Amino acid sequence: MKIILLGAPGSGKGTQAALVSEQLKVAHISTGDIFRDNIQRKTPIGLKIKSIIDGGDLCPDELTIEIVKQRLSEPDCKNGYLLDGFPRNIAQAVALDEFAVPDKVIELAIPLYKIERRITGRRSCAKCKNSFHIDFIGDRKDCPNCGGELFIREDDNPTSVKERLAVYKAQTEPLIEYYESQGKLFPIDADCSIEKVFDAIVKVLK
Ligand code: AMP
Repeated sequence: MKIILLGAPGSGKGTQAALVSEQLKVAHISTGDIFRDNIQRKTPIGLKIKSIIDGGDLCPDELTIEIVKQRLSEPDCKNGYLLDGFPRNIAQAVALDEFAVPDKVIELAIPLYKIERRITGRRSCAKCKNSFHIDFIGDRKDCPNCGGELFIREDDNPTSVKERLAVYKAQTEPLIEYYESQGKLFPIDADCSIEKVFDAIVKVLK
C-alpha cells in the first residue's frame, strides 16, 4: 500500500507514521528526517538547506522530488511505503503522480490555533526520531522510547513555527482538495489521543 500522511506541522504525522509503518511493515519515509540527517552529517545538501529549514520555509522542489524518487526506488519500498511530509505542495504532488501514484491519503485534521503549543512543547529524540510533549514527559532529557537524547528542533521556535504554519496554509493545504478530487482523501480528527488517531488510521487502511 502506498500511503501519504498529510497534515500541518505538529499534527502528529511523524508519531503516527512510525506506528502505522510498523504495523503494516512498510517503509516510513520522512523528508524532514532525510533533510535533518543531511544537516547533521554536513553533506552538501545539508549545508544548502539548513538555513531554509531553520527559517521554516520549504526546500526547493527539484531537490526534494529527486530525493523522494531515489528513496522510493530502494528495495524496502517494494511492499509499499508511507510518505510523511511529502508532497508539501501541488508541484510535488503532480511530480509524485508521475513516478509513484499513491493509493490513499490520510489527512490528520487539527485546528491550526492549537498547533503552536503542540510544537513549542515538543521534544524530539536524536536516536529513534520519535517526539514527545512536555505535558506528558515533563523536563526529562532522555527518550521514554529508546533512552536516546531528547532535543528541541531548531525550527520548533515560535518564529519558525509561524512561518511553517503560513507555508502550510498557502502551499500544503491545497493538497486536500487535490486528493479529494481524486477520491483518495481520508480526513481523520487528529485532535485526540495518539491511540485514538492510530485506531482511526488503521480502520481507514483496512
Ligand atoms: P517536517 O519534519 O516534515 O516538519 O519538515 C521539516 C522541514 O523540512 C520543513 O519545514 C521544510 O523546511 C523541510 N521539508 C520537509 N519536507 C519537505 C518537502 N516535501 N518539501 C520541501 N521542504 C520540506
